[in-house]
Amino acid sequence: MSTGIDFGTTNSVVAQWNGEDVDVLALDSEHLEDEWFYPSFECLFPTIVGESSLRLGALFGWEAKLQSNRVIEACKRMLRDDGGVALRDRRVSATAVAAGVFKAMRERAENSLTTIDSAVITVPANAKGGARYRTRAAARAAGIQVKALLNEPTAAALSYMHDIQDEGTIMVFDWGGGTIDVTVLEHRDGLFEERASRGITQLGGIEIDKKLRELIVQKIGRQPELSLEEERQFALAVERTKIRLSTEETVLTRVPGVSRLIEVSRPELESVIGHLVEEALQPVRVCLNDLGVEPTAISDVLLIGGTSQMPCVRAAVERLMDAETVPAEICHPMTAVARGAAIAAAIVDKEVDSYLQVSSMYALGTTAYDRVDSGKKVFSEIIKPRSPLPIREKKNYTPKKDHQSELSIEIWEADPDKPLSDPENFQLTTLHVRYPRRLPRDQASFTLEYTYQQDGLLHVKATLDRDGQVLVDKEIAEFTHGGSLSITTIQQQMTALEGIPHQSSRPASDSPAPRQVGDRGTANLTPQFMPPTPQPAPIPTPQPGRGNGKSFVVDGSNIAWLGRDVKAGDSPSFAQLLEAVEAFKQQYPDGEISVIVDAALVHQLTHLEREELRKGMRSGWITQVPAGTKGKADRLVATLAERKKAVVVTNDSYKELQAEFPWLHEPGRLLGASNPGGEWIFLQRQPVRPRPDVNGR
Ligand code: ADP
Ligand code: MG
Repeated sequence: MSTGIDFGTTNSVVAQWNGEDVDVLALDSEHLEDEWFYPSFECLFPTIVGESSLRLGALFGWEAKLQSNRVIEACKRMLRDDGGVALRDRRVSATAVAAGVFKAMRERAENSLTTIDSAVITVPANAKGGARYRTRAAARAAGIQVKALLNEPTAAALSYMHDIQDEGTIMVFDWGGGTIDVTVLEHRDGLFEERASRGITQLGGIEIDKKLRELIVQKIGRQPELSLEEERQFALAVERTKIRLSTEETVLTRVPGVSRLIEVSRPELESVIGHLVEEALQPVRVCLNDLGVEPTAISDVLLIGGTSQMPCVRAAVERLMDAETVPAEICHPMTAVARGAAIAAAIVDKEVDSYLQVSSMYALGTTAYDRVDSGKKVFSEIIKPRSPLPIREKKNYTPKKDHQSELSIEIWEADPDKPLSDPENFQLTTLHVRYPRRLPRDQASFTLEYTYQQDGLLHVKATLDRDGQVLVDKEIAEFTHGGSLSITTIQQQMTALEGIPHQSSRPASDSPAPRQVGDRGTANLTPQFMPPTPQPAPIPTPQPGRGNGKSFVVDGSNIAWLGRDVKAGDSPSFAQLLEAVEAFKQQYPDGEISVIVDAALVHQLTHLEREELRKGMRSGWITQVPAGTKGKADRLVATLAERKKAVVVTNDSYKELQAEFPWLHEPGRLLGASNPGGEWIFLQRQPVRPRPDVNGR
């Protein structure tokens, strides 16, 4: 089923192509209370996570909005630089909160006998790389494969143009719960081009609610003294009053703790929010100014978002544009974005015979050392911003030094006009590529080729120029830098949010989220949370002598450091080690596993991770090499493996130890651990006996 999801700051909406037209799903209407039954509200899924003292686990959607004591709202805003959010005594990443919302929508859809395995998901036109990637990661962690990320105004315009089949210059005035975004798009020959986009964050329905609350308090004549729960009830009453005033002249509001009803009229509300409406018109003026056009150049004005349903907002936009806006019956403010996304999904699935042009918003490239500016690290663009997708581009690079054994290729999404350190720039990951042999730098040049798909997936290939040997050829499915989480970690946090005990889960590679096979009865109901980034999984329990299980000795320090660069100031990740051990246990369920770590590791971890490592040591499944034997973990690993006739699990070649432990050359004694695209892979490695003319690391 071709599905579109409008993942909104306040409300999300899911729509599906039914073969002829779009159905907007009434996902959660069973939890919509009577007093919230306004037109099309049954199609909304509030983008909220809440908790209630009466219920186990987190609440989502209408339950979260109407029945929580405490809520996390607007997690979408936090996806930009996910520093984590607090819910009661816990902290989780905003990405996990978003993933929880996606998962809840997916489950509600299943209750309505439809599925959301994949979707086109909309993002604000101005969403930066980090927010785009985290939106995708959240959906993937919830088991939804992202077909494409589509800008919200393009989706709204697509919904409208699908019906009227015309060309023109469209203005999308989207005023929702948290922001106002104005975009002008050109629609010609079936293609949409965003010509100008302006917005104001922190100006939406929330700000209008604040003004109305002040007005009501003024009418009461005193600040009501409210408990936390009453405060939540008051906030909901204020919002409801505002919504009703869009269609009713006066509304009576009940305020907790106040015996009389408070009457508010529409003109009263309009008088206290006049300046906010005026402010919201500013991006319209700036867009027209950016394009150097008069309002008459715009052929159609679409009013999108809940706040634009206020009569005074519609009137103000019509006055400024000196034209009528498209009526809500033709382009519905609450559902047009999701509807457009579903049409886009149907186009991608070839269910609709049309063409959809998706463009990259930012440049993609790597880092290089600027030869002119004293070797400073700079962004080196491979794919230009606003490139139509799919696109393939390549560029040639030469290593900085002679005879390097390894290359570190940093993958960046960036604005080429800004310095690399700009917070808007986003490092996706680092690829570590080994040269087949050490070469002088003039012979070690290589070509880096990026292929960027419509669904936003990046494929990276590096080829040695001298003989065409492929050094790396892989898809970047995970982004491990810049405080981003792995899919597995997001899933662990989601599980914890739900209050369900964590069960080991495989990282989702575009496949549905793992089935939870936990026993609710024996649940650990208060899982530990680790702010703000990697959250270690629960300690894996060793599985001694299950069946005729083999022994494995894991080089823990090596795996905690995998993909991280000491020189760049990176720290090792204990969460990564846990992830690897869990993945290993799934692949070798009968194995007996011991993990060995360096004495130094404990000092290199963050405070919280250090505690987790110590816990692991106390419970006996991790062994630390005695202090004073710095860098000797690999020798202890090999010694232990020799004694137990065990298999060594590492990303290292153990080259220096091969002479001392000749059995490392035997087949099946060394398993190479790697993490391409976020999935742990353990492959047999059989080091060849060194020849004098071959240079390894
Ligand atoms: P977002 O795009 O931020 O998810 P929506 O477009 O769903 O937001 O708009 C939600 C906001 O619109 C909320 O502040 C809500 O109170 C407000 N809203 C919804 N319907 C109406 C209405 N009929 N009149 C006024 N405000 C409304
Ligand atoms: Mg919206």
